[in-house]
Amino acid sequence: MKRPRQVRLRLSKSQFHHCQQLRKESARVWNAATNFFWRTYRKKGIWLSEGSMKRYIAGRFSLHSQSTQAVVEKFYANLKSRIKPDDYRLTARSLRKGNPDIRYPYKNKKWFCVHWKRHAIKVDGRYVHLSNGKGRQGIVFQFPSYLVDCQPNTIELIWRNGYWLSITLEIEGNKQQVLGYNGACDRTRVAAVDLGEIHAITITDGEEAEVISGRELRSVKRYRNKTVGKLARKQSRCSKGSRRWKRLQAVKSKVIAECHRRTTDLNHKITRLAVDWCIQHHVKTLVIGDVTGIAQKTKGEKRLNRKNRQKVSQWEFYKQRQYLEYKCDEVGIETTLESEHGTSKTCPRCGHKQKPNGRNYNCPACHLKIHRDVVGACNIRTKHLTGVLNGNDNFTSPKVKYLRIDDVQLLRSSSVAGVNRRNKRKSNRRKLGVPEQLTLLPSPKGGAIQSRMFSEA
Ligand SMILES: [Zn+2]
Repeated sequence: MKRPRQVRLRLSKSQFHHCQQLRKESARVWNAATNFFWRTYRKKGIWLSEGSMKRYIAGRFSLHSQSTQAVVEKFYANLKSRIKPDDYRLTARSLRKGNPDIRYPYKNKKWFCVHWKRHAIKVDGRYVHLSNGKGRQGIVFQFPSYLVDCQPNTIELIWRNGYWLSITLEIEGNKQQVLGYNGACDRTRVAAVDLGEIHAITITDGEEAEVISGRELRSVKRYRNKTVGKLARKQSRCSKGSRRWKRLQAVKSKVIAECHRRTTDLNHKITRLAVDWCIQHHVKTLVIGDVTGIAQKTKGEKRLNRKNRQKVSQWEFYKQRQYLEYKCDEVGIETTLESEHGTSKTCPRCGHKQKPNGRNYNCPACHLKIHRDVVGACNIRTKHLTGVLNGNDNFTSPKVKYLRIDDVQLLRSSSVAGVNRRNKRKSNRRKLGVPEQLTLLPSPKGGAIQSRMFSEA
């Protein structure tokens, strides 16, 4: 079973310099591959094969041999069509079928991420050695305690407003055993999920319902929109590329990166709560309300106003669906999709149709009063079970429980400026048990950094 983990690196000046050099060298491999590929095409009219490219590149760069090969593999993966039926990553060749203006990779890069494969990674207790080839300084770092005893499959050095390591772990054994889940016993129930913007997830199995708040998510997005807007207005008053413009740009990307991390984390936490609920309630099948296309044509058809258009377009329902699907798959819960068309309008008891006002659904026909999102989830469930939406006389409202991710404290402290605030954030991190960061250590074997990297020609 494979699991990705991303950890931020805390580096000294020389370590930072070393990482910069490695990433530059990786970019040189990319540039050499790209240039050689197109030169051969221009002169001889052939597409060089991946194998010949690897032979051409081998031994010419100051990286581990498999790290250089990984760059070549990335180049070819971008070039060729390698799509599985439901893979959303489209490569240049398949994109060009729809739009011939899209180009194959041709640009030279200044930076490129460095990839270590299994043979270049050595685990020694709590320490992990990354080799950069014989006679060159490697990278040694200490695994955080929660990752000890894991075998990393691949490790990638990436830049995301600071250096990060993206680690793919290979965990031995069956997925369900690993997660301590052996609930194959009496899983029979069908539960349905209604995704929402205010209440991120509403889940019900007909008897009980859980409403998970999305307010934290909304507040992060609002903070991002406000701050980015403010900075963009300031930028519009200075000339593009000036020193002040660049400084504002740096702050802007910092805010965006930080908010991206926060929303990803919150999405994971929200979906984790939902899947835990499913395990507790012996759910066999989870029906997810499909809201695809909700953010389309909102302006042309005048469905939403300006503010709501922004909210809907920033609502990450597809991401949440993917997180739900893979988390359910890990514990053996099936997932299916059901169109959510009409599910929030129909009364689950008498089938009366009306657009709800406010947070509650009040039926004028049978006087049912129930939480609006719970109506949606219940209807998605009945729609999946019976295929129609007519209302059911025996309908009883499920017991509703509200849940939120208590993270507001952390959000308030996440600001870009000010040392005091930054220190406060650090102390908050410790309090909330956010995973410790990785620290690079100097290589025990020494070996000078090769100051002169190989040239391309
Ligand atoms: Zn009714």
